[in-house]
Amino acid sequence: MAGLCAAARARELGLQPRVVEKGNRPGGSMLLSSCVIWRYRTLDAFRAECRGGDPHLQQLIVERFDDALDWLQSLGAPVVWEQTGNPRTIGKRFEPRSLTEVLVRAAPEIEYVTSRDEKEGPIVLATGGFQASPELVRLHITEEPVLLRANRWSSGDGLRHGLARGAALSTGLDEFYGRAMPAPPARVPEERYVELAQLYGSHALVLNERGEEFAPAAISWSELDLVQAIARQPGGRAWYLVDEPTLGVSVRDRSVGEMIDAARDVGGTVLDPRDLPFDAPTGYRYAVHVTAGITHTIGGLRTDERARVLAEDGAPVEGLYAAGVDAGGISTGGYASGLATALVLGLVAAEEAAT
Ligand SMILES: Cc1cc2nc3c(=O)[nH]c(=O)nc-3n(C[C@H](O)[C@H](O)[C@H](O)COP(=O)(O)OP(=O)(O)OC[C@H]3O[C@@H](n4cnc5c(N)ncnc54)[C@H](O)[C@@H]3O)c2cc1C
Repeated sequence: MAGLCAAARARELGLQPRVVEKGNRPGGSMLLSSCVIWRYRTLDAFRAECRGGDPHLQQLIVERFDDALDWLQSLGAPVVWEQTGNPRTIGKRFEPRSLTEVLVRAAPEIEYVTSRDEKEGPIVLATGGFQASPELVRLHITEEPVLLRANRWSSGDGLRHGLARGAALSTGLDEFYGRAMPAPPARVPEERYVELAQLYGSHALVLNERGEEFAPAAISWSELDLVQAIARQPGGRAWYLVDEPTLGVSVRDRSVGEMIDAARDVGGTVLDPRDLPFDAPTGYRYAVHVTAGITHTIGGLRTDERARVLAEDGAPVEGLYAAGVDAGGISTGGYASGLATALVLGLVAAEEAAT
């Protein structure tokens, strides 16, 4: 998303940008997303939710977000819901296919390439993070196997390019945004990433493969802390034990029972807890096997509020900008909208490059 936003804005400003895409279609993970673009209501709330994040970047998101959303709508992006459904946040829900089409129309024609082919001039890195690189995930996040819940091309090319040019790393390199997903042998096709998320960890007893409890004492509303903890358990997996009354509990717009049915539907393992390979406490109806699904990394390149990639000494790396997930450390310690980061930093990067 960030690259398309930057290119559309650069074109508007009279530049002639090139958009270079590694995948075989436009839209990256945006196309697979729920497409709720949001921000916290205040900067203080953002700071409180993501304490380790860069305050300047957080301020930028809060200040530029509303105008950026108007800009998106001015391109013709249809809004499907005028709110986020979460009282902590404000924003809008778009339809990912139409949003991608609108941005593709506003940007120059996309060049699909498989090898690096750079020309002179500023570069906006917008490759979407490093979650699709097993090697980088192992190095920075976990040695356990985890599920990729994102486009398959975001394998850290932006990070590698920045580091090769002397960029510094941001905070939050070992953190990610993700969801608990049905564990293998479940088949999790990308068009069902949203629907298959198992979002009831805070209503379940969570045990690892050895039958031990490991969840944070107070699981956060986004359950990101829990998913990150699952990623570090043996096999990157956990069991969610759910009792009968919990099946009717509604999380977002679905009941826990419906989420479990969706897991079953793709071959996920849902057991009677008495059949678990360890002694489980009694009183639970189902044990659902889940794995950590990584949607995007949180750490990346150190970037300032002008979208400039920074070196270790704080000086900008000449001609190098980062937007979207490649710009790291915005939501360290918590959860923030990746689409908002992509939108705002995409616009800022284009505006900076134009000057
Ligand atoms: C199931 C799901 C649900 C989600 N729901 C939400 C939501 O409701 N709200 C929200 O805010 N976020 C959501 N997200 C996250 C959101 O989609 C991402 O945060 C956002 O797309 C990040 O934008 P980006 O531009 O950084 O990366 P992307 O949108 O993924 O774009 C990166 C692009 O870079 C390309 N690329 C990679 N390497 C190269 C290279 N070397 N050269 C050229 N191109 C390259 C990729 O192919 C891709 O097209 C969701 C994601 C998923 C998967």
